[in-house]
Amino acid sequence: MTAPTKPPHNGPSDPARTAASPGGPGTSGTGADTGAPASGVPLHAPVVDWFAEHARDLPWRRPEAGAWGVMVSEFMLQQTPVSRVLPVYEQWLARWPRPADLAAEAPGEAVRAWGRLGYPRRALRLHGAAAAITERHGGDVPSDHAQLLALPGIGEYTAAAVASFAYGQRHAVLDTNVRRVLARAVTGVQYPPNATTAAERKLARALLPDDEAEAARWAAASMELGALVCTAKNESCHRCPIAGRCAWRLAGKPAHDGPPRRGQTYAGTDRQVRGRLLAVLREQPGPVPQAALDQVWHEPVQRARALDGLVADGLVEPLADGLYRLPLG
Ligand code: SF4
Repeated sequence: MTAPTKPPHNGPSDPARTAASPGGPGTSGTGADTGAPASGVPLHAPVVDWFAEHARDLPWRRPEAGAWGVMVSEFMLQQTPVSRVLPVYEQWLARWPRPADLAAEAPGEAVRAWGRLGYPRRALRLHGAAAAITERHGGDVPSDHAQLLALPGIGEYTAAAVASFAYGQRHAVLDTNVRRVLARAVTGVQYPPNATTAAERKLARALLPDDEAEAARWAAASMELGALVCTAKNESCHRCPIAGRCAWRLAGKPAHDGPPRRGQTYAGTDRQVRGRLLAVLREQPGPVPQAALDQVWHEPVQRARALDGLVADGLVEPLADGLYRLPLG
């Protein structure tokens, strides 16, 4: 694997950061052209300083994680909390320490090892990315953003996150946590839009520090601030390093008046049925009869729809005689 530069989101073990560029985009790119109020700048220096003191020690932030460890973590963390990701991440990296190790196994093994992280298509996408890295890049996770983006299953967010966290590059890394911090601190609203907008991307780019290493630290630090302090349910402004310049707080925390926020209901949904079906298949080393799958959900129409969906997504292979298995390739 290409040796990455020291992961910039190492937090307390980071070397002394370079000084924030006082006249850089973090201070000049706001206002009329980004919609950011003057009170929203500059943000990165206090947030990066806070991060140096408070960042969690997570395995994908350690130098030994390398770019592959960062990529695996980013796939897993996109829709799953850290506490649930940690054990699966450790097992995954122990079993598949390099992309080629994962690529050498059937995609169904990735689905099996994904366990109960949810949204298991991510396991297939990660397997596909590992195969492409092995074929196209000699088994090394590429550092070039365009090459990352060209990998199957890698979107704008993941490409930016890997380039930034593993290789210390300057990219706007806009996950849910960062979007919420920027919405509150800069735009002055409680929540960002349901889907990422062009205006958010523009604002995030404008707020990037000029210095590459500082930009990478800002990306990790603003994400951590959203995860630990400025959370969706309970913002802890008394612990926030930018409380004095947070636009939403200074405006008296006006209530959300945008479209209703998407819920995360699970019980009774097709997602729940799919999870139960996959759990049966994961626990068996070989093919499973239809009758075993029929046990997991009482409602036959929904059960059939969920199973059809798993087959259509390539997560389950139907065989002859009513048997099903995880995909072999
Ligand atoms: S002051 Fe409060 S609302 Fe504003 S960014 Fe900090 S934690 Fe979030």
